[in-house]
Amino acid sequence: MKINAKTKLCIIIGDPVGHSLSPSMHNACYVALGIDDQFVYTAANVKVENVKDVIKAMRVMGFRGLTCTIPHKIEVIKYLDGIDPIAQKISAVNTVVNDGGVLKGYNTDWLGVVTPLEKVTDLKDKRVAIIGAGGAARAMAYGCVARKSKVTIFNRTPEKARDLAREIGGDCIGCSMENIDEAIGDFDIILNATSLGMGKNVGLSPISKSKIKSHQIVFDAVYVPYETQLLLDAGSVGATVIHGTEMLLHQGIAQFELYTGQKAPEEVMRKALNDQLSKAV
Ligand code: NAP
Repeated sequence: MKINAKTKLCIIIGDPVGHSLSPSMHNACYVALGIDDQFVYTAANVKVENVKDVIKAMRVMGFRGLTCTIPHKIEVIKYLDGIDPIAQKISAVNTVVNDGGVLKGYNTDWLGVVTPLEKVTDLKDKRVAIIGAGGAARAMAYGCVARKSKVTIFNRTPEKARDLAREIGGDCIGCSMENIDEAIGDFDIILNATSLGMGKNVGLSPISKSKIKSHQIVFDAVYVPYETQLLLDAGSVGATVIHGTEMLLHQGIAQFELYTGQKAPEEVMRKALNDQLSKAV
């Protein structure tokens, strides 16, 4: 172990947080780059009413980085010294960097969406369907509109889809999920940001298999299970499939670079993520 008195601390807070893959992903990269004497990454379960105290501790103890997961991404904003304009637009911070006592908030979740998509397509003018209007959908909508896609947000509660579309602006509209099967064929890209497919909803999909076309790209934010029903269906009709783990990976890569100032070794982080996931399942 190379940890010493100069090692800087990065920490993820959430409630719950015990399932988080971030410590394994970041620590594996510190070791691979030989900077595990400079950085160490751990996790803490924190109740929302205690986020303020975590920020105070970050200032007093000089933590380098703070990752915020559910439910802290909005709460943390009011305690920071500054917020990056993109995080401001998304209205959520998942990454806080401490630069000599100045705490600035960023959002890297949108890069977790855009980076894997741009490995397979150019997003400009693409017709994108986002299913869901919660936190993950917010990052998806921002990222796709920023890349000049034409976005439709479908949500079980249509008002939330419309509110999100209005907030994001650009070429973005919101509507109900009710007739999604009839509409979905018109899109180039389908992004699932609902919890359909995970937990008690394993085996469920937001759209019927018969409506998915082989030319479409289908990306599911859900990463447990790795193969959701939506992705199994999309793969079986020949559509291009992107797994939820890619979103987790690419938000982490962007975050690693903010914390360390170094480029993250993508394959090392991917392996750490997959190893942890396979142990968890
Ligand atoms: P959230 O803010 O709670 O939003 C949940 C969304 O799912 C809402 O739009 C909700 O609709 C919809 N929904 C829930 N149950 C539904 C059902 N039975 N039928 C139809 N719609 C339903 O959650 P989130 O943070 O956006 O997370 C959404 C999913 O993305 C989760 O599965 C999460 O694990 C995943 N995620 C993955 C990553 C990653 O890195 N891969 C990152 C973030 C999130 P209403 O508005 O009508 O309630």
